[in-house]
Formats: sequence, structure tokens, C-alpha cells
Amino acid sequence: MRTGIMGGTFDPIHYGHLLAAEEARRILNLERLIFVPTGDPPHKANSRVTPSEDRYAMTLLATAGVLEYSVSRTEIDRKESSYTVDTLREFVHSGINPDELFFITGLDAMLSITSWFEFEKIPELCTLVTARRPGYPVDGIERLPKFIRDDLKYIEIPQFAISSTEIRERVRQNKGIRFLVPHLVEIYIMSNNLYKT
Ligand code: NAP
Repeated sequence: MRTGIMGGTFDPIHYGHLLAAEEARRILNLERLIFVPTGDPPHKANSRVTPSEDRYAMTLLATAGVLEYSVSRTEIDRKESSYTVDTLREFVHSGINPDELFFITGLDAMLSITSWFEFEKIPELCTLVTARRPGYPVDGIERLPKFIRDDLKYIEIPQFAISSTEIRERVRQNKGIRFLVPHLVEIYIMSNNLYKT
């Protein structure tokens, strides 16, 4: 079964992520898409990331009702540091053929892949897919090792101008976020007082 893994912090999930997911599903002919919010991000140990349960809840609210979409708790429930290679191994061990497994994430994250734990094993486990915002430079791709570049597919998302950083900043400044995130995610953010400080 052709499966996309949508990996990200999703702090918060927004329409840019959903458009990227849907475009990946269409272009790669995916039968299902599993959103995998990060748990305790090893690479963001010193940064303030919203608790994983809130990010998980928002991802569930954003994707509920779409038949092909689901949300996995695998990285959130992992007790030890959470690495993409372990997540991909879990999906392959559950029976997904690596030729039918696609790991989708943002370009900036992908450019740091050589610092990820056991990154050299990743292309054996999946095809890497990266979503690009319009106007974002692709500088740095040429510095990635050839075996990563050979595995990498790009998806241009013309409408993907939204970012989680911008949404958090808008909430902090009491600017609206209507139509940037799904309505239920907006309600969740407001009711739980997220991103106010
Ligand atoms: P992030 O902060 O969530 O995002 C980095 C950039 O990519 C941001 O511009 C983000 O936009 C965009 N983005 C994130 N997820 C996306 C998606 N699924 N589709 C399209 N664009 C997306 O990135 P991160 O925390 O570094 O994590 C990204 C993925 O890489 C996660 O699955 C993470 O586990 C993995 N990763 C693994 C390791 C490791 O194994 N050691 C290390 C680093 C990252 P927004 O800001 O608007 O979300």
C-alpha cells in the first residue's frame, strides 16, 4: 500500500501542511498519509516546543474526516529520543514495502538530514520527499551526498506561503489566524491559550 509519512513538529499544523500533504498524495498516488508529529525533538532540545499532546490533538483535529489521513503517536509515545530512522523502521517492520513508503517533510528540515541519527540508512527505508515554499531557495541541496539527492523528490506547493512561526507570532500579537489553520485548530489554540507568551 503506497504510504506517505508526513513528518513535522506541527506547532501548529496549518493549511500549508495540509496542501503539501494533499499534493504529495495526488502526485505520488498515495493510498494513505500518516501524519507523525515529533515527540521530544532531539535537535530542538533547548527550544520551546509546545507539548506533544497539544500538537498531536491539533493534528488530529486538522485531519479528522479525511479518509486517507491518519495521525500516528509513535514518536510522541517513544520514551527515548525520537529519530526518523526508527520511525521508518517501525513502519517497514509493520509490513510496508520500502519502495512504497515516502517520507515527506519541509526543505529546511531535509537540508539538515546529514546531522540526523543514522541518516545514511534512511534511503534504504523510504523515498524522501520535500515540499518547497514558492520563492524559497534550494541552496544547499547540491551539498547533500549523492545517495540522498538521488532518493529525493520535490513537490512545489504554490499556495504554501504560511508558516507555523508566522502563526505563533500572529497569535502572540492578537492578530487573527482564521483561514490560516482549520477552524477547530484555531478554537483549540484559543481555548488552550497557546502561543500567548
Ligand atoms: P519543522 O521545524 O517541523 O519544519 C522545518 C521546515 O519544514 C519548516 O519550514 C516547516 O514549516 C516545514 N515543514 C515541516 N513539516 C513539514 C511537512 N510535513 N510538509 C511540508 N513542510 C513541512 O522541522 P523539524 O522539527 O526539523 O522536523 C521535520 C521532520 O524531520 C520531522 O519528522 C523530524 O522528526 C525529522 N527530523 C529528524 C531528525 C533525526 O532523526 N535526528 C532530526 C531533525 C528532523 P512550518 O514551520 O510551517 O511547520
